[in-house]
Amino acid sequence: MNVLVINAGSSSLKYQLLNSKTQDVLAKGLCERIGIDGHIKHSPTGKPYYEAFTNMPTHAEAIQAALELLVDPEYGVISSISEIGAVGHRVLHGGEKFTAPSLVTNEVMEAIHDCIHLGPLHNPNNIIGILACQQVMPDVPMVAVFDTAFHQTMPPRAYTYALPYKFYEEDRVRRYGFHGSSYIYVSQRAAAMLGRENDPNLKLICCHLGNGSSIAAVQGGKSVDTSMGLTPLEGLPMGTRSGSIDPGIMEYLMYRRNLDIHEILDIMNKESGVLGISGVSSDFRDLEEAADQGNERARLAIECFAYSVKKYIGSFAASMGGVDAVVLTGGIGENSTAVRKAALSGLEFLGVKLDAEKLNTRGKELDISAPDATVKTLIVPTNEELVIAIATTKIVEEMQGKQA
Ligand code: ADP
Repeated sequence: MNVLVINAGSSSLKYQLLNSKTQDVLAKGLCERIGIDGHIKHSPTGKPYYEAFTNMPTHAEAIQAALELLVDPEYGVISSISEIGAVGHRVLHGGEKFTAPSLVTNEVMEAIHDCIHLGPLHNPNNIIGILACQQVMPDVPMVAVFDTAFHQTMPPRAYTYALPYKFYEEDRVRRYGFHGSSYIYVSQRAAAMLGRENDPNLKLICCHLGNGSSIAAVQGGKSVDTSMGLTPLEGLPMGTRSGSIDPGIMEYLMYRRNLDIHEILDIMNKESGVLGISGVSSDFRDLEEAADQGNERARLAIECFAYSVKKYIGSFAASMGGVDAVVLTGGIGENSTAVRKAALSGLEFLGVKLDAEKLNTRGKELDISAPDATVKTLIVPTNEELVIAIATTKIVEEMQGKQA
């Protein structure tokens, strides 16, 4: 089945058309500047790349533009929209309601709506993306795949915040965690690389290190803890997000700098992390280049990030009572030798030991551990779209099987 995977952001929309059986990517693309002017980048497999400014007042025009390119005689990869069997939507927050992907029905749309208060920055865009697709493809089944669902297996001791319990009972304040589709993909690949598929005792620490970064402890294929929380702001310092800080800092800065809570949160989301520390960039390629040229704050930013990764690895190894492999993914995990080196050096006491040559690998699946390492270190390029496409196909085929 050909599945269109949609990841809708506030002014952008990523799409990918995959055949979920062969796992082939037929085309992928990005619509940007939605609501401003509109720009589309379209990469069809085996056909020329296309890029253009197109008027996109809303997400509906962005989806329309993507669909037109998918069937275009020159840049297209299918001859008609009817060749799209289903659409899989990445949805950020499923709260406690969603522990698995769900066929989009009116009730499911209402439930995603109910989660807006938990994911106010993302869920509204995800809803807009679903509505826009329904408008353009009214007869194609849609599935919502939640970033939070994978972590619903965490035990209460891992997801409970030490606040008055009524905030959990009445306001659903708890740790949810994100990057679920990525963790499903990399933990399954890692288990296969280790020859331990379906082993309930396999203990993995999966590090998704990209623009947004998080770490998850995965035992027997299930999430038992993760670094992100109620929102994606908790945990590691990220490109522009602060990660965990002393909550008292917020009040301190509000008074000293005469800022309100929205301004503080904006700074913590958009001006902090490695960008905030370095003053150079949120991108690790720029930071590594600046650090190589002697920029001390760029070096400090990389060090702070790597140190935080190391602390989570240590704490998740403790919480699982051991670890079999550390799995690195996301743009930084898949590519950055400097971060790998800084984050994983000094963990020899745990059994982590890297191969000096393999450490430099970029963007491909590889065991980069030294031969005598007792804890493996694996690079696994993630594939969230494939996980979404496979989950979507499964649900739609089940539904069609029931209808037949
Ligand atoms: P997103 O979270 O947006 O999906 P990615 O997983 O693509 O992000 O990660 C993007 C980040 O990966 C970039 O900001 C950059 O810091 C880092 N990155 C990508 N390539 C390299 C590289 N060759 N060396 C170091 N860092 C890299």
